[in-house]
Amino acid sequence: MSVMHGLAATMAPVLFKAACPDCRSRFELSASALRLAIGASRRTTFYSFTCPECGSSVRKPAGERIVELLTGGGVRTLRLHTTV
Ligand SMILES: [Zn+2]
Repeated sequence: MSVMHGLAATMAPVLFKAACPDCRSRFELSASALRLAIGASRRTTFYSFTCPECGSSVRKPAGERIVELLTGGGVRTLRLHTTV
């Protein structure tokens, strides 16, 4: 009977751990710092962010779990593919 349990959102902003392949620094990003792009296939599904350390834009492939995590955390989602 506790179906709704766990869906309650905390007031704290969700932070996602990320790392920069350029400067190799690790940091946490809020949902607003991330962008998720969902393409037609896994290859074109990725998330991106700008490294707070070196300013380079990073793009990484997003698997199903990551997509779930990011959308659930309120990350802006861009659908690259319109209707199939
Ligand atoms: Zn960097």
